[in-house]
Amino acid sequence: MRVLLVEDDASIAEPLADGLVRYGFTVERVGTGAAALDAAHGEMVLLDLGLPDMDGIDVCRRLREVSDVPIIMLTARGTETDRVVGLELGADDYLAKPFSLRELVARMRAVGRRTRGRERAGAAAAEESPQTVGDLRIDRRTRQVRVAGKAVTLTPKEFDLLVLLAEDPGAVCPRQRILSSVWGPDFFGLSKTLDVHIAGLRRKLGDPGRIETLRGVGFRLVEAPEG
Ligand code: CA
Repeated sequence: MRVLLVEDDASIAEPLADGLVRYGFTVERVGTGAAALDAAHGEMVLLDLGLPDMDGIDVCRRLREVSDVPIIMLTARGTETDRVVGLELGADDYLAKPFSLRELVARMRAVGRRTRGRERAGAAAAEESPQTVGDLRIDRRTRQVRVAGKAVTLTPKEFDLLVLLAEDPGAVCPRQRILSSVWGPDFFGLSKTLDVHIAGLRRKLGDPGRIETLRGVGFRLVEAPEG
């Protein structure tokens, strides 16, 4: 697997790159956000948040605008806000420094398995025509969403989440089923991640009432929200 390692601190990047090579990865290393955006993304991006030229969060956002490549954020800033913002911007996982090489490789494999599942699901959906739920139009083939005719830009996770809820509009989709379907059965993260993505999706769909919360149970896509 080809990996792009974005890390400015050579004392971290060098041993990490060497270690990943020992595990069989091909590693390209860059030390700035600008170089990361210019480089080939490979099949996975390991992204440090504290970069000299720009915030890793912005690098993540801009990568996500052009690519579905799996992104794991690496950071010393282990605050809840960073975690939440990163995941909301479409990072697939988050690892706080210090971490062991073994831990990182386990995460990389888990993220790799989930995203391959996402690609397979995408291929299966390729033949389907767009679905409408009220004034919501979901095109699984092009991964595009429109609300009342207006295009809405969702992160890959938000899109997968919406597609899952739209499988059976009006029915409650349990939290655990969403986590294992959208994030994968070996998701290590916080269950709060799901609430963050639901919040992002609600905001982008323009009407919070479109997705109902059944506290402690799950979520439901509403066909015609009131008001
Ligand atoms: Ca750094």
